[in-house]
Amino acid sequence: MKTSKIFFLLILSLSLAFMLVGEDFDWSKVEIKDTKLNEGIYMFEGMGGNMTVLCRDSEALIVDGMFPPLFEKIIAKIESLGGKKIKYMINTHIHDDHIANNPNFRKAGAQIIAHENLKKRLTEKGRTDFLPDVTFKDEKVIDFHGIKVRLIYMPSGHTDTDIVLFFDDLKVVTMGDLYFARRFPYIDLKQGGSVKGFIKNNEKLLSEIPDGYKIVPGHGPLSTKEDLKNDVNVLKETIGIIQAKIDNGLSEEEILKEGLPEKYKNWEWQFINTERWIKIIYSDLNKK
Ligand SMILES: [Zn+2]
Repeated sequence: MKTSKIFFLLILSLSLAFMLVGEDFDWSKVEIKDTKLNEGIYMFEGMGGNMTVLCRDSEALIVDGMFPPLFEKIIAKIESLGGKKIKYMINTHIHDDHIANNPNFRKAGAQIIAHENLKKRLTEKGRTDFLPDVTFKDEKVIDFHGIKVRLIYMPSGHTDTDIVLFFDDLKVVTMGDLYFARRFPYIDLKQGGSVKGFIKNNEKLLSEIPDGYKIVPGHGPLSTKEDLKNDVNVLKETIGIIQAKIDNGLSEEEILKEGLPEKYKNWEWQFINTERWIKIIYSDLNKK
């Protein structure tokens, strides 16, 4: 089985994914790359969602946690950057490539914080090991060694469990999977996501993020506000194209056959190709 296929399944189903990954995927090849964003704050890239790591006075606050086979490497990297104890772990949303290490980080002493919908959905699924210790509804502010961290709930977008984090003192925003940089996004319609909500949230954030901030996307490279603006425009264009076809009475099959103009081809990636992006848009916008 190809890595792309495995990655696809990985995100969709954790238990199934680990069985698959165990067979084919070589976790030892995954390296955790850290990029310094400002004093004591880093973006981590590896496998799964990007992480944000803030270190102060030998403690760390981390955002998301990738997958269990990477746990030791992540811990080692955080320690090398000065985070001897992980005080907080914050989940941007419910997907496994962000929360699968919750039990491990909890064991390591971290308090896990997430939106109340994440707890509700995980409870319904019976996944009690992954539950956050602390939840909030609209907004929560953490004072981490004098650094103010604002956790803001965003309504239905990528899922209905999404939060974004503002590190205003350090001019950094972490957007979780409300931002897939330079690629088509995944919108999880079965867990409260919404195509229109996704765009609306992005536009709201564009109006709120000050110029000069560094933006950590859930997937893809470190970005600027200008990048986010361009990327949102591309998504709006593609959604507009599909909407027009729906309005003209085309079926899903016909729309898939026509596809999108060639210039959007490089927005495809291993997880979301053009076909999948069209299907997400179609099934959401065609809802009566
Ligand atoms: Zn996600």
